[in-house]
Amino acid sequence: MKSSAGKVYALAFGAHPDDVELACGATLLKIMHEGHSVAVCDLTRGEMGTLGTPETRKSEAAAATKVMGYQSRTTLDLGDSKLFYTDDNLAEIIQVIRHFKPDVVFTNPPDERHPDHMKASKLVTDAFYYAGLQQLTTTLNGEVQQPHRPKHLLYYIQFKHLQPDFIVDVSETFAASREGVLTFSSQFYREGAAEEPVTLIKRKGFLTGLEARARYFGEQIGTMYGEGFLLPATLAVTLFSGVFPGVREK
Ligand SMILES: [Zn+2]
Repeated sequence: MKSSAGKVYALAFGAHPDDVELACGATLLKIMHEGHSVAVCDLTRGEMGTLGTPETRKSEAAAATKVMGYQSRTTLDLGDSKLFYTDDNLAEIIQVIRHFKPDVVFTNPPDERHPDHMKASKLVTDAFYYAGLQQLTTTLNGEVQQPHRPKHLLYYIQFKHLQPDFIVDVSETFAASREGVLTFSSQFYREGAAEEPVTLIKRKGFLTGLEARARYFGEQIGTMYGEGFLLPATLAVTLFSGVFPGVREK
């Protein structure tokens, strides 16, 4: 990876460009609205996608970064549909974690339809831990990196319906997050582009389905829109009223 701006509060990994925006874009916007920085790291260039070329996906990811307002976006080249569990791939992800020193890491869920999503989940979960090991050395641009263990690991929810451990109220940011999603236009249904192959997400109505799920998750917590997340560990409550606010503290 190329060196770019450092420390962020949240670092969101995705196996492919657009995973992050589709699954947790509204939550990332909410985090930024709360005054915290966010960086995104795509593990692959999405070069095996049925739709769009690596070049169009690159420019779409750059446009999404601008629209969403991330501090930075890193695109690794670990191999779309060849995202294997290797020491080299693990080391590249550890490099990114040590560079951005996040408090919170998001990644694909461990149980998913696309094999790359599950592989990404395993790689990032392990890198999350190994990045903190003193004895594991990585270098970036010739300099030895300091170990860093982020505080929290969160799995977002993609195609498979998984029961979330918690749901974030994204009523205020859901509409804006759609702008980020729509920058990946090569992946979605467009009027007049009927010649292109139809994929699962290229169907007319896919984005409506995505909104329906956000509405459903919102219903579960009594808000308009929600995004659900899984925790690999039991949630530790430190600031009690931060997690369970009173009426006047909302
Ligand atoms: Zn994906």
